[in-house]
Amino acid sequence: MDDLKQIAFLGIGNMGYPMALNLHKKGFHVTVFDLSADSLSRAKAEGMATAADAFTAAKDADVVISMLPAAKHAEGLYLGPDGLLARLKAHRKDKLPKVADCSTTSPDCAIKLAAAAKALGMDFLDAPVSGGTAGAAAGTLTFMVGGSESTLASFRPILEAMGKNLFYAGTAGFGQVAKVCNNMLLAIHMIGTSEALALGTKFGMDPKVLSEIMSKASGNNWSLQVYNPYPGVQETSAATRGYTGGFASALMKKDLGLAEDAARTQGVQTPLGNLALQIYTDHCAQGFDGKDFSSVIQRFAKELSK
Ligand code: NAD
Repeated sequence: MDDLKQIAFLGIGNMGYPMALNLHKKGFHVTVFDLSADSLSRAKAEGMATAADAFTAAKDADVVISMLPAAKHAEGLYLGPDGLLARLKAHRKDKLPKVADCSTTSPDCAIKLAAAAKALGMDFLDAPVSGGTAGAAAGTLTFMVGGSESTLASFRPILEAMGKNLFYAGTAGFGQVAKVCNNMLLAIHMIGTSEALALGTKFGMDPKVLSEIMSKASGNNWSLQVYNPYPGVQETSAATRGYTGGFASALMKKDLGLAEDAARTQGVQTPLGNLALQIYTDHCAQGFDGKDFSSVIQRFAKELSK
């Protein structure tokens, strides 16, 4: 097994920061880079090394991990003659770093990045995650990995330092296929959970009691049990901290757009996925784009939007 200790971590936002911090705390040598100076100062205060740009962070690394908002950011970072992959190849010639992009991009983007890496002799994984910011902080994320199994084997100790469940989804792009399907389902059960809680509480029922009942009955699901959208039901949920610091509605809208594209190209009907995209598009247009996606409950439970 390779001894991969030097890690460049690119993109330390809501998810990337706690993921990088777990690697740092578990003994990896982590150098981080983000466009946000505030995030870099925070990382420095925790004892992580910081770099002034992505290439400086990655030039001597064994492994590069990225956690960026979307496909355009990942392609902008890695591709092209001045992109990170080409610059690393020119700088290192051999003993090239292995790369894992943990961002939610798209199957096409992952295939494109993997092909560009392969052309330069680099190993590349698409390794999007599920589990939210709480899972990132607790080191219990689920990774859905596309690429070669031998590359995944060398990444295993690193991914296990950030997550609990590691799934090999298939060749390049299949990690993103799994993620797109998962998040379409997540949006649907978050909206459904929000509707159910809005209805019950309108009668005057205590949202904690209703949540407890449904979570032990056939309505149980992750949005209800782990990520409850009604403020105060769970101490650690984004809802209880004013829908901040979780998974932005704008990112959910992006993921539902990916699901719609994927459904169109595969000729599959996803009517609830399409409706979820409409609901999140409108929710973002109402000014909730930066708020956690569980804030969608405010559309149904009007007392929460006061
Ligand atoms: P975020 O917006 O909080 O963080 C993204 C970070 O990337 C920002 O700090 C931004 O400054 C940085 N960035 C952008 N371009 C960069 C570049 N070229 N170089 C370096 N840094 C750059 O987003 P997030 O919530 O951390 O999500 C990251 C990814 O993880 C997204 O693809 C999202 O869909 C996915 N995801 C998020 C969650 C969640 O609960 N937040 C859960 C699972 C998956």
